[in-house]
Amino acid sequence: MRHIAIIGSGPAGYYTAEAAQKQWGDEVKVDVFDMLPVPYGLIRTGVAPDHQSIKGVSKRYEGTALSDNVRFVGNVHIGSDVTVPELQGLYDAVVLATGAPNDRPLDIPGSDLANVFGSAAFVGWYNGHPQFAGLAPDLSGHTAVVIGMGNVALDVARILSKTEGEFTGSDIVGHALYALMASKIRRVVIVGRRGPHQIMMTPKELGELGHLARAAPRVDPADLPELGDDALLEPGLRKSVTHIRSFAAIPESHFADVEVEVEFDFFAAPHALTGDGAVEAIELERTAVQAGRAIGTGEFYTVPASLVVSCIGYQTSPIPDVPFDERAGKFANDEGRILPGLYCVGWARRGPSGTIGTNRPDGFSVVEKIVADIGAGTGKRGRAGFDELAAARSLDVVTFRDWKKIEAQEESRARVGAPREKFVDVGEMIRARED
Ligand code: NAP
Repeated sequence: MRHIAIIGSGPAGYYTAEAAQKQWGDEVKVDVFDMLPVPYGLIRTGVAPDHQSIKGVSKRYEGTALSDNVRFVGNVHIGSDVTVPELQGLYDAVVLATGAPNDRPLDIPGSDLANVFGSAAFVGWYNGHPQFAGLAPDLSGHTAVVIGMGNVALDVARILSKTEGEFTGSDIVGHALYALMASKIRRVVIVGRRGPHQIMMTPKELGELGHLARAAPRVDPADLPELGDDALLEPGLRKSVTHIRSFAAIPESHFADVEVEVEFDFFAAPHALTGDGAVEAIELERTAVQAGRAIGTGEFYTVPASLVVSCIGYQTSPIPDVPFDERAGKFANDEGRILPGLYCVGWARRGPSGTIGTNRPDGFSVVEKIVADIGAGTGKRGRAGFDELAAARSLDVVTFRDWKKIEAQEESRARVGAPREKFVDVGEMIRARED
C-alpha cells in the first residue's frame, strides 16, 4: 500500500489523485487536504462565475473524490494545524498542489492607496472566497483601470461591464452582483505595457468582449501592427489579434449607444498611482516594444482611475520547511520533485500559466516521479496516523460527505436561474454541514 497526501483540492490536486488511482488502483490511499471546508480551489474561487462550462470539470473531480481510495480532508491548514514534516512522517509522498493564490505585487508608488486591488483579491471578492468576501470595492466612480493583458484582466473587465441579465446562470455571489448592479463605472481601461502582438489573452475569451449587452471594446487603430506581420504569430495569438483588429474597426457611431466602454491602452507602463487616500489617477509611461521588450519613451500621461485592479500574475505562498524559489514565486523543484517524498504540481510547480487542462499531464508526470521514488511504499501509516493526530489536536475535519451537505444548502438558496449561492464565510460553511 502507498499513502499519498495531496495539499490542495483544485485541478492540480484532483488530477494528481486521479493519476495515482490510475497508477496503483486499490494499492493506494490518497488524502486530499484543503484549508477551506469546500473543495475545488481555483474552479470555485478563480474561474469566472459566468464561465460555468469551465466550472463543470468539477464533476470529474467529484468522480475521483467519491472513489473508495480517495478522501477529502477539508478545513485543515497545512503549516499551522499540521506541518509538512509531520505529513512527510505519515505519508510515502506529500504533493503540494497549493496553486498561486497571492498577487504579484504592483511595485509602483501609490499601490497602497484605497480601492487598488490585486486580481486575487478582486476575483476572490466576486467569487466569494472567504478571505476576500468583505473587500467592498468602491464602484461609485466613473473609470476603472485594469492592469495587464491576460485572461484575468479580461475576466475583470467583463465582470465590471455586464448587465444583471448577463449574469443569469452564473454563480456570482449576491454581494458582488448587487454592488455591480449599483456600479457607476462607465469606462474600463485595460492597460498593457506592450502591444497587440504581445497580449496573453486567448481568442475565445477575447471574442466575448465583442458581444456584451451594454459594453463595447475600443481599440485605437494607430496601435495596430502591420497586417502582414500577423502571419508570423502562432495561430492562437493570431486569432486573438484578429479580434483586436475587429474591435479597432468598430465605427465611432456605435459608441453613441454604448453604456460602458472597454478601452485598450497598449504601449502603456504603469508608473505611479495618485490620490488623496483613495486612488484617483494612474500615471503611465508610453513605451515602445524593442526585441519583444517594453522600453519607456520618457513620455508620461495620466488617466483618471477611481478603481484599479492589477492583473499581472500570481505567486505561490511559501510553506514553512519547504524550499522556495523567491524569484520565481513557486516551490524550488526539479520537474515536480522538491526532494524524494515531497513534490509539487500545477501552478505551485510551474508558475501561473496554462489552462485547467494543463494540470492533468502535470499530475500524471508527478506520479511517475513518485513511482520512481517510493516503489511499493515505505511502510508509513498514512491516513490512520493522520486521524490520530487530528483527534489529538481536535481538528474539525470536513469530509466529502459534509461538503455534499454544504453544496446542497448552497444549491437550495440559489437565486432564480443561478446554480448556487455560495457561502462566503468559513463558519457558515461549517454550520451548513450540520443542517
Ligand atoms: P498572464 O496571462 O501571465 O498575463 C499577465 C499580464 O500582466 C501580461 O499582459 C503581462 O504583461 C502583464 N504584466 C506583468 N507584470 C506587469 C507589470 N509589472 N506591469 C504591467 N503589466 C504587467 O496572467 P493572468 O492573466 O493572471 O492569467 C494566469 C493564467 O490563468 C494564464 O495562463 C491564463 O490564460 C489563465 N486564465 C485562463 C482563463 C480562461 O481560460 N478563461 C481565465 C483566467 C486565467 P507582459 O506580457 O508584458 O509581461
